[in-house]
Amino acid sequence: MSEDAGGGRRPVSEGARLLRQRAEMGAGELFLDGMTRERALELAKAARAARSEAARASAGAEATPWPSGARRPRDAARSGPARSTEDSSPPPSAPLRLPDSHEELRAVASACARCRLAESRTHVVFSDGPPDARLIVVGEAPGANEDRTGLPFVGAAGKFLDLLLATVGLSREESVYICNVLKCRPPGNRNPLPDEISTCSPFLEKQIEVVRPEALLAVGSFSAQLLTGREKATLGKLRGEVHAYRGVPLVVTYHPAALLRNPKWTRAFWDDLQLLRAVMDGH
Ligand code: SF4
Repeated sequence: MSEDAGGGRRPVSEGARLLRQRAEMGAGELFLDGMTRERALELAKAARAARSEAARASAGAEATPWPSGARRPRDAARSGPARSTEDSSPPPSAPLRLPDSHEELRAVASACARCRLAESRTHVVFSDGPPDARLIVVGEAPGANEDRTGLPFVGAAGKFLDLLLATVGLSREESVYICNVLKCRPPGNRNPLPDEISTCSPFLEKQIEVVRPEALLAVGSFSAQLLTGREKATLGKLRGEVHAYRGVPLVVTYHPAALLRNPKWTRAFWDDLQLLRAVMDGH
C-alpha cells in the first residue's frame, strides 16, 4: 500500500512499487540493468491481476475521496440529451455532427466509413477505460492486436503502459481512458496520413470534450503534434513542458512501443509521468 495524491491509501502493485523504489534510488536506466522486457511484462500481468483483485475486494466499499483541489470527474447526469445515431456515417465532405453521449459517440464511430481505413479494418478501436476518467492517454492508431480485439493498447506496449501508469497510481480500470488519434488500423501499421488524421480527429476532439479529464497524456509524435498544434515539432522539442489543449493540461511523451524498442528512453518516460502526476496533483 502507498499513499495516493490525496493522502488516501490505495493498493499499489508489486511491479509498480519496485519501479518506484528504483526511481527513488536514482536508478537511471530502468529495465536495462537486470530487468528484461519479459520480466517487465510478467510484472505488468501481475499488476493487472493485483488491481483486479483489489477492485473485487473493494466492491461495495465507499469510494476513495477525491484529492482536495482536484476537479471531480464528469458524472453521467451531465451527459447531453439523447440523440439519434442515424447520422453516424455521413460522407467525408459533410460536416460531422457528433452526439454528446459517450455511448452514442462510440456507436457513431463504430459505423464510420469516412476514410479509406474503413475498408481494411476488422474493428473500430474506440476506447478503453471509464468515460469519467481523470486522465486521457492518446496514442497513434490501432495495431494488429487492437484491430483484432477492438481495444486500444492490448499488446506488449499496452501492458508496459499499464505498468508504468501504475507507478504513479493510475490505471485504466479506475482512472485512465485510453484512445488513439485514428480509430481504425492503417494497413501494415504504416503511419497515419494527414487526411486520415484530419478526417478522424473530430472523434478525438469529442471524446476529450465528453470525458472532460483533468489532464491529457499524448504518447508518440502523431498525437503530440495534433494536440499541441505544432505539426512540425519533434517529440524531443515537445517533451518536458506542460502544454494545454482547449484548457486541459497536456503532457507529451514517448509511445510505449518505442520504449520497448529503445529501453534507454524509459527514464525519460518516467520523468514525464512525474510531471503529469504533479500537474494532476496541482503542484
Ligand atoms: S479512421 Fe476514423 S474517420 Fe477513418 S473510417 Fe475509421 S473512424 Fe472513420
